[in-house]
Amino acid sequence: MQRYRENGGLRRHILVVDDEPINREILGNLLCKDYEVHYAENGKQALDILQEKEYVYSLILLDLLMPVMDGFELIEIMKDSETLRSIPVIVMTSEKDAEVKSIKMGAADFITKPYDMPEVILARCERIIELQEDKTIINAAEKDHLTGLYTKDFFTEYIRQIEKYNPEQKMDLMVLNIEHFHLINELYGHAEGDKVLICLADILSNMFQNIKGIKCRTEADYFYVYSETGIDYEDVLNRVLERLSAKIPSYHIHLRIGVYPDVDKTLMPENWIDRAKTACDRIRGDYSRHIAYYNNEFYEKSKYQERLINDIDNAIEARDLIVYYQPKYDIQGDEPKLRSAEALIRWKHPELGMISPGDFIPLFESNGLIQKLDRYVWKEAARQIGDWKKRYGISVPVSVNVSRMDIYYPKLRDDFMVLLKENDLDVKELMLEITESAYADNADQLVNVIEKLRNDGFMIEMDDFGSGYSSLNMLTTIPIDALKMDMKFIRNMQKDEKSMKLVELVLDIADFLQVPVIAEGVETEEQMQLLKERGCAIIQGYYFSKPVPPEEFEKFFN
Ligand code: C2E
Ligand code: CA
Ligand code: CA
Repeated sequence: MQRYRENGGLRRHILVVDDEPINREILGNLLCKDYEVHYAENGKQALDILQEKEYVYSLILLDLLMPVMDGFELIEIMKDSETLRSIPVIVMTSEKDAEVKSIKMGAADFITKPYDMPEVILARCERIIELQEDKTIINAAEKDHLTGLYTKDFFTEYIRQIEKYNPEQKMDLMVLNIEHFHLINELYGHAEGDKVLICLADILSNMFQNIKGIKCRTEADYFYVYSETGIDYEDVLNRVLERLSAKIPSYHIHLRIGVYPDVDKTLMPENWIDRAKTACDRIRGDYSRHIAYYNNEFYEKSKYQERLINDIDNAIEARDLIVYYQPKYDIQGDEPKLRSAEALIRWKHPELGMISPGDFIPLFESNGLIQKLDRYVWKEAARQIGDWKKRYGISVPVSVNVSRMDIYYPKLRDDFMVLLKENDLDVKELMLEITESAYADNADQLVNVIEKLRNDGFMIEMDDFGSGYSSLNMLTTIPIDALKMDMKFIRNMQKDEKSMKLVELVLDIADFLQVPVIAEGVETEEQMQLLKERGCAIIQGYYFSKPVPPEEFEKFFN
């Protein structure tokens, strides 16, 4: 019983059904201190009240002999009703026979008339309600063995119980997650990981003791709290962090919070949980934001993304995905010379129109679909190089983007080799762009894969150089053939002296590594000249051309 009261002194509703006014009055006086008491004069009236569903009744005290509809008949009807079946009934009678009969029919207990001592009646009512409520959640009743918090099943069942009695109360669903929890396990061992989880559970339990709410833990490091709205989550986060660092001072733990505020009660608790989690996962890895709220915009966006995920297979089949090509020009000589191209994907969606890669590439990178998409682009690009070669007798090397996820695909090299063979290409004609931030992930493995690809003869370009975190030291160990300077350098170049110096620095680094620099995002003549003067060899950008479909690209050939 108590655990339900923990959530804000909820009062349960009891229906007293008796044709004698005096009996209703006695029971009413007895129960009204602890319960909301409602009355009916016979079975028919009781049934009407129950079917109105204005309240959720925890218990019915039922007289057996009444005019219009007696207690037996009401019990029969309730037994056949999906919603009424679960409401426990205590019958009130003075005949021994009737007691037995009613219990056989499914009554939970009986009270004899004339009435027992008031305490006895109260105790019986309370016990029956408790039994019934326990029964409902018993299947799910399980606490997380590690932290003592509820499990997710129990948590959602419990939310349903709370909702029965508190449907009007505005509630939030919050989820708290440990950023890179697996690293704690890997670096310090599982015992340490467990310790962190237990600490967090304790802190949350203490904190939400006064704020009304229930908590659970699931999927290792996700903690959920269901509580009344009006909580300052900023403050919650700060206090949790403060207590956590007092308990675990030796290293820093990052936490993220996702909140689905004022949950939509027409949805299911499972949906609330999903939404809080979606908000939370949104800021994964973003160290500048620690709290995210689920809102409508959010919802629209995830709907849109869901759509894209659903449509990708179709798009590949229907060839709605088109590979565009953007030229890279060599500007060392007097006349700029077409040197190569970059393959960039475009999605012409039959209903949503042209979708920019910025809308779907990061999405597919986060869920793994990028591998499928990249493979499609590689195949297309390889076929295109071969086609140009055949039709024009010229070789235009094309670079394709290789996502970090592709790198861990064991058959990566084999796949590329097949493409070369199928299209009769030289290994230098299919170049690979790998974004700098991929190098920060798992440097050893990456270096390993790239070394093998280079041994096979592939040219590797480090994409978006300067946007990631490579240390100079790392750069010297990474095998690459060109640096693609991140676009933001070019954006800022003409702003001030310092930004220009940064461009020069990148060129110096490339010089030191003895690789050429490709400047991306060059839009003006002036930018091109400034880069040329400083020895930048290759330019890619709107100044020469936007990415264009293959037919249009052919005009650059002469
Ligand atoms: P990225 O690899 O850094 O590609 C360069 C982006 O800069 C392209 O955007 C290109 O259209 C744009 N760009 C080129 N020159 C200029 C310029 O002068 N001014 C401006 N403002 N922009 C310029 P896009 O095509 O929208 O692609 C965006 C990103 O999407 C790419 O950045 C790449 O990370 C990703 N992406 C595109 N296609 C693929 C693909 O097939 N596979 C993978 N994995 N990623 C792709
Ligand atoms: Ca690229
Ligand atoms: Ca780039």
